[in-house]
Order: sequence, then C-alpha cells, then structure tokens
Amino acid sequence: MHPPPVRARAGTLYVLATPIGNLRDITLRALDILGSVDLVAAEDTRTTAGLLAAYGIEARLFAYHEHNERSATPVLLERLRSGASIALASDAGTPGISDPGTLLVAAARAEGIPVEPIPGPNAAVAALSACGLDAPHWLFYGFLPAKSSARRKVLETLRDLPHTLVFYEAPHRIGECVADLADILGGTRRACIARELTKRFETLHRCTLAEACPWLAADENHRRGEFVLLVGGAVPAAYDELAAARPVLAALLDELPASQAARLAARITGVRKNLLYQAALEQAGDKHDESPHDQT
Ligand code: SAM
Repeated sequence: MHPPPVRARAGTLYVLATPIGNLRDITLRALDILGSVDLVAAEDTRTTAGLLAAYGIEARLFAYHEHNERSATPVLLERLRSGASIALASDAGTPGISDPGTLLVAAARAEGIPVEPIPGPNAAVAALSACGLDAPHWLFYGFLPAKSSARRKVLETLRDLPHTLVFYEAPHRIGECVADLADILGGTRRACIARELTKRFETLHRCTLAEACPWLAADENHRRGEFVLLVGGAVPAAYDELAAARPVLAALLDELPASQAARLAARITGVRKNLLYQAALEQAGDKHDESPHDQT
C-alpha cells in the first residue's frame, strides 16, 4: 500500500524543491504540500503556475524574489504568525541554493516558526551524481564572480583544495569562466560540463579543463542552456613533496651516488626513499645505479 497523502500544517513554512527541467521530477509529498498550503511564495509566479497547472493544483501565489525579499519577508512572517501555511518555491530546484529563500528561512527560524524542508531536485547534486568524478568529498561554490579579475582571485583560493569543485554558470559567461578555470586551476584537472540536466538536450561532457574550452567553442549548442561545471580536486602529496625535496636531492647528488643521495634526502626531507631514488636516477641520468632495496 502507498503511504497516505500528507496535508500542510498551520503556521509552517515549507521549503519546497521543484523540478530543474523535467516536470515529473517532483515528489508526491511536494504535490501534497502544494495542494494544501494557504499560500505558495514563488520566485517566478508564472513558472510555478505552470507546474501547478501540470498537476491540476490550484493555489494562491505570492511573488517572492531577490528584488522584493526584504520587503516581502515581514509580510510572509506575519502570515505565518497568524497561522497560515506557506510553501516557498524557487524557479527551479531547491530554494536558498543560489536562489532566494535564506532570508525568510532564517527570520522564521529566529522566531521559532516551524520550517520544514520538502527535499527534491538540485542541479549541483544531480550533476555530481552522474559526472563520474569519483571523489568522496565535494565543495559547492555556486556562481563565481561575473568579472574575470574577481573570479580569478576566488579561484586562487580554491586551487589547492582536494575536493571536487562544483560551480553554477550562465550560458553567456561559460566560455570565459572555463578559460579562467583552466588557467588558474590547471589544464590537466579532470572536469565535467553538465548542461540542461533532466531536459531534452541533457549533456554530461567529461574532459580535462584544457579540453573544455575547445569543446565549448566547437559547437554553439555546447554553449546553450544551463550549466553546472565540475572540476576534480587538486592532486597533492607525492608530486609536491618531491618538488620540495628536489633541491636537497640535487645538492647530495653532486657528492654522492644516486642511492646514497636518495637515502640521505629521504632522512632529511621525510619523502619516500623510492620516490627520491627514481628522481635521483632521472636527475643524474644514471639508470644503472644499484637499487635502494639493496642499501639497508
Ligand atoms: N536552486 C537551484 C538548485 O537547487 O539547483 C539553482 C538555482 S540557480 C539561480 C540557477 C543555476 O543552477 C543555473 O544558472 C545553472 O547553473 C544551474 N541549473 C539549474 N538548472 C539546471 C539544469 N537543468 N541543468 C544544469 N544546470 C542547472
């Protein structure tokens, strides 16, 4: 048996996720709540009216967007205080995630008004779930600054993080944004361009950051629609460690054979002996030196 429908409770604010493209991506509970609240505070009343019409739901709509959220928040709070139930819906996806909503939610919580999430679609999570960048940790950044100089400054702060980075970007800035990503984070970083998720022209293109710019330039359709950009995390440790140890190794190699230089450099720097030995062989051009395993 299916779980029974639910009804909105008086005086409660529901933070309700809506589809990011495919109108069937809405939960049964979201439909129950939309059909039983006193008011739907919608970022774009036309979009939400379309969603409601698709499911035969009649609801009162109230425009709540970035241009009126300061003045509209006290109005909605007053309605909640007097017992109205309200669903907050953004244009697409989860309210408050690079969308209006955080102000109202914070104000309601500060007053002890019940706030309940009605979870559902989110573009970042949808992109992450299917991009194939196999990192356990990720950082959602959302929109980078529109101006390149500010964007590059932010990217400098993210460059060395080992987490998959997740960005939102508008189609008219996608090319320049990806160029900055490649320039600051490095062209070899793995990436995924996820566009038009859940829609007809959905694309998840895997490439490196260096390959991403030519891919976008190759076809104007590649630059159309809505985008999530994902970038694999920085690969730290071995290479950087080795780079830091190289001057020590070079000085020792002036005086000693590769195996001894590697062993001493390992003691001085803490870098693994085998790694240093390989580097020593390359540096000295002496591929015939004895193996460090023989030097105990
Ligand atoms: N609140 C939304 C969410 O939960 O994902 C995000 C809203 S934000 C104003 C809009 C941005 O989300 C778009 O510019 C794009 O970067 C991303 N986005 C939304 N829908 C998308 C889709 N279907 N495919 C790819 N990206 C999408």
